[in-house]
Amino acid sequence: MSKQEPISPANDAIGKLVQEFSKLPGIGPKSAQRIVFNLLRSPEEKARSLAEALVSLKQRVNLCSTCYNVTETNPCPICCNAQRDVSQVCIVEQPQDILALEHTGVYKGLYHVLHGAISPSEGIGADNIRITELLARLQNGLVKEVILATNTNIEGEQTAMYLSRLIAPLNIKVTRLARGLPFGTELEYADDVTLTRALEGRSAF
Ligand SMILES: [Zn+2]
Repeated sequence: MSKQEPISPANDAIGKLVQEFSKLPGIGPKSAQRIVFNLLRSPEEKARSLAEALVSLKQRVNLCSTCYNVTETNPCPICCNAQRDVSQVCIVEQPQDILALEHTGVYKGLYHVLHGAISPSEGIGADNIRITELLARLQNGLVKEVILATNTNIEGEQTAMYLSRLIAPLNIKVTRLARGLPFGTELEYADDVTLTRALEGRSAF
């Protein structure tokens, strides 16, 4: 068999799984093959436990009805935590961003996950992300500061700008997490030191 030929047809068990893994972000066909052959060599228990973890992911994980973070309980543990400062809401694009910010341990407020950013080129407008839900949430009178922690790329900046205009009339302080984050940064990949500096050095927006 030459190197270019696929290892297995896409309709058999190996080929099908290689194809499925290849669709995942960051996994090319070679890595997908490596994973599948590793599983094939492993005890059946390993494959079974992976399969069960995949199924329970979709069965057990939902979105928090307050902040739209992924959670197995509703509201999520952050929204339920009485130690958190309800006067601060940090706006992020994706649930993974919360993981990155929580890892720094410096932020004690709440979050709101937009599930995307405004991107006219991709046809994503304000109505396609969780902005209406955010505005409804800000009506409770408890929130004193909104921290815009969208990515520092064009879509993230556009979204931050749009939100700051919407929030300005609500008499809520709007800050932007930016200092120390180079342009083009996706929050989930930023390191702890940079994120901590960006949080502590947030400025009026
Ligand atoms: Zn929540």
